[in-house]
Amino acid sequence: MSEQLASPPSTKQVEPGSHLVQILQPYSFGSKSAKVTCSKCQREVLTEMDKHPSVTAWISAAIIAICGCFCGCCIIPLCMDSCMNTEHGCPECGTHLGSHKPF
Ligand SMILES: [Zn+2]
Repeated sequence: MSEQLASPPSTKQVEPGSHLVQILQPYSFGSKSAKVTCSKCQREVLTEMDKHPSVTAWISAAIIAICGCFCGCCIIPLCMDSCMNTEHGCPECGTHLGSHKPF
């Protein structure tokens, strides 16, 4: 009589990977310089800003020009701070960190 040891089928459960997912929270940049940690050089820096007129500013300028204000009024939206797109970059390594759009 040979007794066979019925070994239960191994039910090795593979736990769903508990790997850490690093979610990089995007900084919410405004129209002013922000203190952030650079994603590249890991330094805490005050962002360097580069402002340029947004699409809205150009459209506003075109509308004003079409409406008959040829005396320079059409450039007003292109100079208004609230119509500017602000690009934020790292002053240390020049990495683009984010941007702020007014609309
Ligand atoms: Zn940097």
